[in-house]
Amino acid sequence: MKCVPLMRGSTFIRIGNDREIRNIHLFFMVISMIIHAPLDTEILSPLEKKGCQGRIVSIRHLKELRHEINGLHRQKLLNENLYREREFSSFDYEHTVFPEATSIIIVAYPDPPYNVTFNWYDKDISVRVPPTYLLGQSNDKRIKTFLLQSLKPLGYRVAKANIPLKLLAVRSGLARYGKNNIGYIRGMGSFCRLVAFFSDYVCERDEWFEPRKLERCENCTICFQKCPTNAITEKRFLIHAERCLTYLNEQPGHVQFPNWVSHAAHNCLVGCLRCQMKCPENRKIKNWIKQGPKFSFKETGLLLARTPIEHLPVSTVDKLKNFGIDYLIDLIPRNLQTLIKRIDNHKLD
Ligand code: SF4
Ligand code: SF4
Repeated sequence: MKCVPLMRGSTFIRIGNDREIRNIHLFFMVISMIIHAPLDTEILSPLEKKGCQGRIVSIRHLKELRHEINGLHRQKLLNENLYREREFSSFDYEHTVFPEATSIIIVAYPDPPYNVTFNWYDKDISVRVPPTYLLGQSNDKRIKTFLLQSLKPLGYRVAKANIPLKLLAVRSGLARYGKNNIGYIRGMGSFCRLVAFFSDYVCERDEWFEPRKLERCENCTICFQKCPTNAITEKRFLIHAERCLTYLNEQPGHVQFPNWVSHAAHNCLVGCLRCQMKCPENRKIKNWIKQGPKFSFKETGLLLARTPIEHLPVSTVDKLKNFGIDYLIDLIPRNLQTLIKRIDNHKLD
């Protein structure tokens, strides 16, 4: 006679010989698989119906994410300023917003670049904004709502997680890195936004991968050739993020661009799209661009003049807020001035 754990947990009963025990084990393993295996899929299915993709991993991987980020920093592969300014050091590795969390749910959803239009001396100047900048917070809230459709009825909760999203996406198998270090999702390319949540849902499949690159990158050097600041290098996998235009034009508005950045390099109101627009992985989606807000001549003048948000007309503030770009108001004057200077002589690509 032996004591057999019949289900997960600590329920034990006394039953027959070894063979019976093995059969009963097998029976309950199969039942357990039938009952539980589709659960991760069920949790993610409302999101997938909306064109999103997700993965669920155990909360224990947070330690590995921290170890990995800190390792890069220690090896001086992460620029010190970048590490501090991008708040790599302030990720919520202890999941303080949700101490009872047992898993992390990472979701990628399609998110296109936008055109933002500024009228300036009878000319409409349309400038691009890469994915993730516009409507980010409101879209993340919608994702949370979709997720709760499956989790709430089962009694589970979620809280938005401030953690290294791209690394988590790659490690969980959701994304692959491009040579430009951007995260690519199957079917979405790089036109997507990532959001993660802590949850008390216990995941069934807990897959964790070595970071993987797009297969296409093996025989492609397009982004390396097109990068206007030589941030991408053939010598190491990590790009020199401190040279990337995205880092430079996200600096506070009073910080001027370094002299080595040519006018011709600038191509977006914030961020940079050169490597993404030319990447063959984005070939099918590269024309997917949405129209963002339009600012009149007067509004453009006020923005360029660094008018504090509380002194802008209510309609302008509404426009900024409705598209979720009010947080960019400090950067707009410097970045837009640079683009206007460039546009006087060249068409923006
Ligand atoms: S442009 Fe080529 S090398 Fe660069 S990320 Fe895309 S596929 Fe990879
Ligand atoms: S975003 Fe622009 S600057 Fe940064 S790596 Fe890509 S092409 Fe280079």
